[in-house]
Amino acid sequence: MIKKTITDVDSDGLQGRTVIVRADLNVPLDNGSISDDQRIRASLPTLQMLTDAGARVILLSHLGRPKGQVNPTFSLAPVAVRLNELLEPSVHFVPYTDGAAAAHALHDIGDGEIAILENTRFEPGESANAPDLAHSWAALGDLFVNDAFGTAHRAHASTAGLAHAMRAKGGEAVAGLLMATELEFLEEALRTPERPFVAIVGGAKISSKIGVISSLLPRVDCLLIGGAMANTFFRALGLDTGDSLVEEDSIEVARDLIATGGERLVLPVDCTVANEIVEDAECRAVDRTGVKQGEKILDVGPRTRLLFADLVGRAKTIVWNGPMGVFEIDAFAEGTMDIAHAVAGACDAGAIGILGGGDSAAAAERAGVVDRLTHVSTGGGASLELLAGAQLPGVNALSNRSV
Ligand code: ADP
Ligand code: MG
Repeated sequence: MIKKTITDVDSDGLQGRTVIVRADLNVPLDNGSISDDQRIRASLPTLQMLTDAGARVILLSHLGRPKGQVNPTFSLAPVAVRLNELLEPSVHFVPYTDGAAAAHALHDIGDGEIAILENTRFEPGESANAPDLAHSWAALGDLFVNDAFGTAHRAHASTAGLAHAMRAKGGEAVAGLLMATELEFLEEALRTPERPFVAIVGGAKISSKIGVISSLLPRVDCLLIGGAMANTFFRALGLDTGDSLVEEDSIEVARDLIATGGERLVLPVDCTVANEIVEDAECRAVDRTGVKQGEKILDVGPRTRLLFADLVGRAKTIVWNGPMGVFEIDAFAEGTMDIAHAVAGACDAGAIGILGGGDSAAAAERAGVVDRLTHVSTGGGASLELLAGAQLPGVNALSNRSV
């Protein structure tokens, strides 16, 4: 990896040192209580490592979209409570955000303790990447650890801005453990993949994933398309898709991808259709050429499931983003469940299987295969950007390793 990570920092020098950490603690809240603490848990290894080494941690995160205004609905206070339950060291909640307030908080914490500041997005300068706000945080110490992979695709004051400010004053900005793992799998592993390298792309919209498909297509041995976006490809082939979800504006793009992809681009050969998206809908499996008026394509069909499972089963590197159908409803979940099991099976046999995308992660959870996958990304937008080959501002701004 080109970028420095926290494992490059001499841990002996961390005792009593102030370290500013940006994590992604943007958890879903339901009436003020945390409904899923996965993001908090994903941030623990970095925090534990720093506090074990005796560092004094100033912890920053955003939560929701308070749009630059103080708004109690988006307070990080419940997150601080949860952190206190999960972590050995004490976590102090500081109900202010800027660097000056944090300087006071530093008096209250001892070595190996954490002060979590209030939501960074309460500051109007956060999303605007205001230099003075970034400098106020950078002034607190000489080491910045960015572990917020989920927001690495945005240049905000507490991410890219803070890294720049820290390096401008001679300090260091490094990737945290979570960030480093995400980069290792979504960037490094896919740069020199063991072959066959198979990508599976599905989900609702082709328009949101054109970058991913065009970037992966020349690099993979085959790219399997499923989900509603397959319908747009069907239309590009001149097929009837009945009442299915189709992005008319993207039919031309789909046609280009079919032309450039050639045999590498593998479309479903059959589908599961129904007239309505309901649990007890009457479904039928049909060739992709046989979709009737009024019918909706809601999953890949049985022959496609076998074809996809076979290709995935032979792969040595797999990247999967997007469900194969409306998996939220059992009747249309089979394609997605089969892919989840096929990817997990390949991983059991030694392949590297990487999963990105919030809905796909939920599907893998439902299939009960999460523990068997090599890596499940925690970042939605950020992982899509990386898979599309983009540079992430939050990563770019970090210090380089010396070669
Ligand atoms: P991810 O979050 O994994 O990147 P997306 O957000 O792109 O995935 O897409 C997930 C959504 O796509 C799911 O809500 C699913 O119901 C929907 N979807 C998949 N296939 C179809 C289809 N054939 N018709 C309508 N919606 C679909
Ligand atoms: Mg999604």
